[in-house]
Amino acid sequence: MQHLGDIRHDWTEAEVKALFELPFNDLMFQAQTVHRQNFDPNEVQVSTLLSIKTGACPEDCKYCPQSGHYNTGLEKERLMQVEKVLEKAKKAKETGSTRFCMGAAWKHPADKDMPYVIEMVKRVKELGLETCMTLGMLDESKANQLADAGLDYYNHNLDTSPEFYDKIITTRTYQDRLDTLQNVRDSGMKICSGGILGMGETAKDRYGLLMQLANMPVQPESVPINMLVKVEGTPLENVDDLDHLDFIRTIAVARIMMPKSHVRLSAGREKMSDEMQAMTFFAGANSIFYGECLLTTPNPETHRDIQLFRKLGINMEQRISDSDATQEAALMNDLQKQQDREHFYEA
Ligand code: SF4
Repeated sequence: MQHLGDIRHDWTEAEVKALFELPFNDLMFQAQTVHRQNFDPNEVQVSTLLSIKTGACPEDCKYCPQSGHYNTGLEKERLMQVEKVLEKAKKAKETGSTRFCMGAAWKHPADKDMPYVIEMVKRVKELGLETCMTLGMLDESKANQLADAGLDYYNHNLDTSPEFYDKIITTRTYQDRLDTLQNVRDSGMKICSGGILGMGETAKDRYGLLMQLANMPVQPESVPINMLVKVEGTPLENVDDLDHLDFIRTIAVARIMMPKSHVRLSAGREKMSDEMQAMTFFAGANSIFYGECLLTTPNPETHRDIQLFRKLGINMEQRISDSDATQEAALMNDLQKQQDREHFYEA
């Protein structure tokens, strides 16, 4: 007999639909129960994301300001120098991140770029950070090169259901994405893969996305759930808003279907109120991107996150417990001093 919280790879659409259609409180209770079986409910993992090559991407993802197909006024940048990446990684570590994600707007990494990205992985790891990259499609050889360099995670999102996919992207297929994920898995790296909600998809597409992720032979270790950030100049700039309760339900169902994965609140978090974010943590989200910049879209200021964590009694998940705990304590202390100062008027 199967129990709530078992890892399953045979989810059917009817089962997923039934979860989505549970009364809200029942769904939240189930999701929170599964969450508590697998994680400390008051801990959130924190990653920082840096764009190491911005814009002029040949792909046509309709949500993306980095696509060369749309004119969004985004400033394009070449591949960032390794030293500059290291500077940013050190800063991320100082502010409490345990994982440093580096993203490049490419169809796939070119042979000539591989030595640079490999160098980035090795040097960022030397700082004691976990590493993650998102560089587009990977063949077997490039996946192995990155794994040999020590890359911990590779991000490649499925974005949406197979049925809705070609309304969003035409320059690479769903199968291309699945192939990349397979190459990543075979290389021994961990998978970060999720999708974007609010692109005009139906509820059925949201079931389909979660089924694709959960029914993989090994579920992704990290599952980013993005809320579309509507950027002027992209084809999705005027799409209807997604009901926030549908977003929270999707997080809760993802938690139930992928009990041991970190479910990450990603793009779109900046527009969410504290209350909305609190609900997503309650629904089972336990990872966020942190810092000033989430690729090219705004992300809440670092301190807003710390303030929210304090209000909710949430701790940052530690990787190297002692030194990171000291850093977090220093940050909290700093914030306390700042808040204390704000209570006094300059006379
Ligand atoms: S592949 Fe990535 S960077 Fe390129 S258009 Fe799609 S989402 Fe944007």
